[in-house]
Amino acid sequence: MKVLVIGSGGRDHAIAWKFAQSDRVKQLYVAHGNAGIAEIATCVDARTIEEMADFAEKEKIDLTFVGPEKPLSSGIVDLFEGRGLAIVGPSRRASRLESSKCDTKILLRELGIPVPEFAVFSDPEKAKAYVRQVGYPVVVKADGLAAGKGALVCDDVEDAEEAIRAIMEERIFGDAGERVDIEKRLYGRELSFFCFTDGHTLVPMVAAQDYKRAADNDEGKNTGGMGSYSPHPWLDEILVRKIMEQVAEPLISGVREKYGFLYRGILYLGLMLTGEGTDIVPNVLEINIRLGDPEAQVILPRLQTDLVDICEAILTGRLKEIQPAWDPLYKLCLIATSGRTKGKKGWYKGYPDRYKIGLPITGLDKIDSSCLVFHSGTGWNDSGQLVTTGGRVLCIVSTGKTLAEAREIAYREMDKVSFEGLYRRSDIGRE
Ligand code: ATP
Repeated sequence: MKVLVIGSGGRDHAIAWKFAQSDRVKQLYVAHGNAGIAEIATCVDARTIEEMADFAEKEKIDLTFVGPEKPLSSGIVDLFEGRGLAIVGPSRRASRLESSKCDTKILLRELGIPVPEFAVFSDPEKAKAYVRQVGYPVVVKADGLAAGKGALVCDDVEDAEEAIRAIMEERIFGDAGERVDIEKRLYGRELSFFCFTDGHTLVPMVAAQDYKRAADNDEGKNTGGMGSYSPHPWLDEILVRKIMEQVAEPLISGVREKYGFLYRGILYLGLMLTGEGTDIVPNVLEINIRLGDPEAQVILPRLQTDLVDICEAILTGRLKEIQPAWDPLYKLCLIATSGRTKGKKGWYKGYPDRYKIGLPITGLDKIDSSCLVFHSGTGWNDSGQLVTTGGRVLCIVSTGKTLAEAREIAYREMDKVSFEGLYRRSDIGRE
């Protein structure tokens, strides 16, 4: 069959790689891909969802899988389905669970799913009065999509008023800041939880630990993610059952029965666990409608079941017949980013701040064959040389019987890679 993957980052490379493992996939296309993806698939220069649908129609693509949230919230699934094309991912309506934090918090509360105490405002003065009145530390969140940067965690009332001003008055996230969701700040353990769903049945995936901050010891700015590993250190079966019963299942049945839409594809719950033992509460901080990056880079290599079979089961409502098998070994993903470099106009601080692109990359041919290399921001220069095109550049995914072994291999192999200013955290997978 012919498969099309939408995306161009490390997660999307991992998705394409997983499809490339399937005997059932004869031709693999990725729109629009990157230099690493081009080694395993045909990259297609389709940038808009209309161009993607035109390509899928012309090439008679049998199955399309969407990596990032943008095309989903733009309605790629509705567009493809309207043209009779098979596509895995939530509809535009279902995608609002990620693209409107305010509406989603209201929906979750109505469905009786645990959420932090919150209130929604479209008037900045009322929002400021609210944070003064509640007095406790809050998190101020822009309603719309803000590339993972739209939640401002505040220590006190002054911080919160400043966050409201920045989001609603200065509009640092543009129209995403027309409304804000102001939540009580919780203190607990964070967890990303992923499921496949056909709209009725949910199948949980194995979990991954990710690292969001730029610097060691979880210091520095928030990033898209600097590394991950799986299996997760403390997610056990009892907790999985609790999350399924208290969050995932009431959400999927609730949107179907109360709100009248089917949620199909990948469900990603951003949770904060509070309390201990049997009293643990899985509070929902956010819902994402797709796989995480860099969680996908360690979850998909552990998946032993054919992803095409899972996708077909999602599309035909037969997910309850699927019991995915998972490799028990550890996978660890170490990301290399574009770090501090000198340019003509002075220093670049490096990702997630300003970074240089076009830096030649060498050493990938020396990576041990037991490892996977997934590219995020890579391309070619005019001389056909592999160069950086983004802040997160590529990652190495290693395998080990223990976390320590996987960690040692990933760091050893990353030492063979080189580009100017290459930066990586040094504590990924350190217990
Ligand atoms: P991303 O897409 O990068 O996960 P986002 O901008 O969509 O982030 P959230 O996931 O809601 O927003 O929040 C980002 C981070 O802020 C969370 O991972 C968590 O660390 C912190 N956070 C959010 N809400 C709360 C809360 N109510 N209490 C404490 N911390 C919170």
